[in-house]
Amino acid sequence: MGTDVQGLKSLAKIVRPPGGEQPVAGPCRTNSDSAGPSVVKCGENRMMKRSPCVTPFVLVVVPLTGCASTPRWPVDLEIKSMVREVNVARIEADVRTLTGFGTRNTMSDTASDTRGIGAARRWIHDQFQHIAHESCGRLIVELDGYTQEPDGNRIVKTTEIVNVVATLPGRQPESADRVYIVSAHYDSMASDPKDYTSDAPGADDDASGVACVLELARVMSRYEFDATVVFMAVAGEEQGLLGSKYAAQKSKDAGVHVAAMLTNDIIGNSLSADGVRDRRRVRVFSEGVPLSESPDDWELRQKIGGENDSPARQIARHIDTACDAYVPDFDVVMIARGDRFLRGGDHKPYSLMGYPGVRFTEMNEDYRHQHQNVRTEEGVFFGDVPDRLDYPYIANVTRVNLAALASLARAPARPRHALVMTDRLDHHTALQWNANAEPDLAGYEIVWRETTAAQWQHAVSAGNVTRCKMTLSKDNFIFGVRAVDEQGHRSEAAYPWPSKN
Ligand SMILES: [Zn+2]
Repeated sequence: MGTDVQGLKSLAKIVRPPGGEQPVAGPCRTNSDSAGPSVVKCGENRMMKRSPCVTPFVLVVVPLTGCASTPRWPVDLEIKSMVREVNVARIEADVRTLTGFGTRNTMSDTASDTRGIGAARRWIHDQFQHIAHESCGRLIVELDGYTQEPDGNRIVKTTEIVNVVATLPGRQPESADRVYIVSAHYDSMASDPKDYTSDAPGADDDASGVACVLELARVMSRYEFDATVVFMAVAGEEQGLLGSKYAAQKSKDAGVHVAAMLTNDIIGNSLSADGVRDRRRVRVFSEGVPLSESPDDWELRQKIGGENDSPARQIARHIDTACDAYVPDFDVVMIARGDRFLRGGDHKPYSLMGYPGVRFTEMNEDYRHQHQNVRTEEGVFFGDVPDRLDYPYIANVTRVNLAALASLARAPARPRHALVMTDRLDHHTALQWNANAEPDLAGYEIVWRETTAAQWQHAVSAGNVTRCKMTLSKDNFIFGVRAVDEQGHRSEAAYPWPSKN
């Protein structure tokens, strides 16, 4: 779509800050792939250096029509090569090994080397240990858990709930305490969750997710990231999200900055019971209103129409954009709800603790092959067995996870305390936020979309400033602020909260 660049330049008014730092007016850098041409030019103000003190608002002039700057990212070639390393044969082998333990019910046998959750746990631990060795010891592997007494629900005997956790510490001191968790559950269930002796192969639910997490650890632990990435296989999901509840509470108690938690649960089947096959899409579920939000914040969110802008939803948008950038033949379908009807997952305990949690699940589920004793009834096969899975599909979901995690863990943190200024009625949008601390920070960009749009539609660089005024009305659009580093990695967007200050 054509844009009158000269006309826009003549419209641009730049508020100069005190001191010698002068913003530079220039053509807008749209977020196109570095190898491709820029899509559109529009007004941009760039601060060449960080301002030493309070800066006035920098005015970013945005044309009301014609500035369709598609928010794409520069591609990180190393992330691209990580995505290529995801190996479908290893994923299939892992799923078949896990299903080979017969049952992984959380209360099943822990003494046998060939059957039950104990054998499965030790095998996963061994895999992580091997990966840690290959990574020259950078990956830290541990078993972490507690003793669960019978709870009158799905735990009928004293049971050790043990998570297998592998941590890849971040390399940038300013970012290492920022943690991204990717998780799956290694327990399984037959038709009755309290039946811990019958076969419960749990191929799709959730050996598929565990194989994804193991493959992510294999590939990513040979690379470096600014922030910390945790690869986690939890137990007790089918007994009431027990392993995940324990891990989320422990993070909360220790004040861990979990910037996002991604759970992969049921990501291996591409053929639904009604015969629909979808090998090209995966669903990402995220809450719109944080489960942990206070009544006052919820009331304010409802007033400003922020029901589609929780931190988890921003992570879902980031995952969708990462998929577009690094796995272009595959697609993320953002589902604007926390989970499917009547179902739950390991991201929920994190959401309840105030952490952004999202869930990956296949596009079309087949309920004959989940939570079922293995059997044939009236010619219909029931059971969650490995022969039913689509392994190239799991590999693609793994690639999307990798693109999202790697791009988040290499990006700066999302800007803190983002505000949209509301001290008086006007037709503009004044934004401010706190400066990031990362040494490789390049600046910030403003993203925006129509109030009915699911995904960010536009982006413009604001430069290395902490205040910006857009010539668009906050009443008509939803805005976000992203931090950008020198290599072009973007944080997920920070949703600005209204302030009169
Ligand atoms: Zn599951």
